[in-house]
Amino acid sequence: MGLRIERIPTFADNYTYLAICDETHEAAIVDAPEEDPVVARVEATDAKVKLILSTHHHFDHSMANPQLAERYGVPVYGHSSDVERLPGQTVGVDEGDEIQIGRQRGRVLFIPSHTMGHVAYVFDEAKAVFTGDMLFAGGCGRLFEGNAQMMYDALCVKLAALPDDYLVYCGHEYTESNLRFAITVEPDNPEITERYERVREIRSQVADDWHHATAAEMTIPSTIGEEKATNPFMRAPTAEELGRLRELKDNF
Ligand SMILES: [Zn+2]
Repeated sequence: MGLRIERIPTFADNYTYLAICDETHEAAIVDAPEEDPVVARVEATDAKVKLILSTHHHFDHSMANPQLAERYGVPVYGHSSDVERLPGQTVGVDEGDEIQIGRQRGRVLFIPSHTMGHVAYVFDEAKAVFTGDMLFAGGCGRLFEGNAQMMYDALCVKLAALPDDYLVYCGHEYTESNLRFAITVEPDNPEITERYERVREIRSQVADDWHHATAAEMTIPSTIGEEKATNPFMRAPTAEELGRLRELKDNF
């Protein structure tokens, strides 16, 4: 692996990640809306925080950036077009740029449409990708700023090109409701039905407070292969079809 990825439940149903290099213990915080749970996890591990990675500017992914950046004295990465609006951002990145967590090398995928400055961070040796609110387990984020063609290029071209065994770490625990929708799109797809049953089982014993959620209640990470088999948005044959599905889901 090379990269240990801690899942920290934050906000209402958000995931913040702490990605720690096995060799150096240097670490990145990914998408942090809250300071306290992140600091607690850093202190409970051997992480030496060196950078903060934001997938996009929405407050529920970035609100705690300024406090965390000050606490650890570290830079905040986001897409170059978001410098004016992403809280605490100090470094602008774009498609193909390299980043480093200890000895682990990552690269940036520019995947706009949920927002126009949305990026994913891919770690090839660790086989992991942080997808924010673009690709969810079983679904995708809303189309707030871009169009269906951009979303198609992001989900069905760029992210779909990653190897099937790459782990997908997304921004929210939305998997159950996403799959409830997926079943209506492909009622005869046994892989979707099976995944929905599995996820329902996992989510049937959830804590009252998301902040106290344990690993047993989490459906993240999934894999690129699992998404390609069961995520109707990633399976859309055209941008038009993807746009139609997104509209249906908005009103689901
Ligand atoms: Zn968002």
